[in-house]
Amino acid sequence: MAVSIFNEVLSKLPQFNPKDFEEIEIGYPNDEFQPEAELFDSGEAIPLPKDDDFDPESQSENEGEMGAAEGGVRAAGIEILAFYKSYRHINSPPFRGKWGIFYVNSGVQHISQMLAIEFPCAQNLREIALNFLWSHEIFHAKFDVGVLGFEGFSKTHLYLPQKFAFRRSKSYQPEEALANASAWKYAKSIDPNKSSSRSAQTIGIPGVLDFFFQFMKNQPGAYARFDENLFDLKSEAAAGIFNSQRSKYARADDLAPWVGLHPSGYCSHSDIPEHLVVGIKYSKLISPARFIPSVKEIRETPKFLSDVPVGHQSFWEKTKSKLIKSSCLPGLDFKYFEPLNVWSAKVNDNFRAHFSPISIPQGIWEAVSYGNHKKMGHG
Ligand SMILES: [Zn+2]
Repeated sequence: MAVSIFNEVLSKLPQFNPKDFEEIEIGYPNDEFQPEAELFDSGEAIPLPKDDDFDPESQSENEGEMGAAEGGVRAAGIEILAFYKSYRHINSPPFRGKWGIFYVNSGVQHISQMLAIEFPCAQNLREIALNFLWSHEIFHAKFDVGVLGFEGFSKTHLYLPQKFAFRRSKSYQPEEALANASAWKYAKSIDPNKSSSRSAQTIGIPGVLDFFFQFMKNQPGAYARFDENLFDLKSEAAAGIFNSQRSKYARADDLAPWVGLHPSGYCSHSDIPEHLVVGIKYSKLISPARFIPSVKEIRETPKFLSDVPVGHQSFWEKTKSKLIKSSCLPGLDFKYFEPLNVWSAKVNDNFRAHFSPISIPQGIWEAVSYGNHKKMGHG
């Protein structure tokens, strides 16, 4: 068990004093959204049920809850849906006395429900959502255990200074890009269009890789950097841990191979405890200003209709029907674009549509313009 090496190494380290690291320089911006550690304290952590399909709470995610969950993911990344808590923090909130991987049940429901909308015939969606989240969170465990090895022989803290330095820039940690790269690898392994693996053949969903790719691209900071060169991301992370150099351009190539490397037998399902957090309602925890609003009806203005080029009618109809099914679908990238009231959705790789709300509570929108990314001001 991982606990034994945590106890062995941590007992040899001096007391960690954040005051020693207060002057630390960091070349990343602050997070736009900084959720409190206590965010999930209103929930209860129960053991993860053995049966992946078993949901102890009724599937109650209505549109408001879905818009809140998706708004949270886009502002703060995957950690809104599931998170890893190091054994080092076992006595700190949330869930004092417990450590490991925590899946927020309403977060698992959020992913499975979006998969159900995008892939109406697919099965095993809760299992896929849990495995996807595990693939992200287990990287954090590997990172933690890997660093522990170096702390053991250098007798100095490396993990806590890194976390302390990033306390206001959590979403910019290269560790998040690596964790999402691990989740991306899982998504690839269950897409029969991309992989001939056993799980692709048994529970796979054609096209699921594109779904998760967009889902992660819509996340903030380093979360969206998962498709960059893996060695460079590891080198950037290593520069922070080992050399206290924390910027997107910092490198420690010689130590890069060690990032996330852990002794075998320490980071499997049986080594890291898994919990399910029940009783969470995102709509109560996240500001309504961050919700992705629902779309029930779209009225096209004459200008909009004259903007849509010949041959684009079918792309637009498809986008429109998806928006009405759920404005949270990752491929739509539906978001507030600019003041005063301009919202934007992706039609395909080159084109976007812009909208203005007629009534946000009733989900009535006006489609106001249509064009390629550049014309629409998306660079
Ligand atoms: Zn993460």
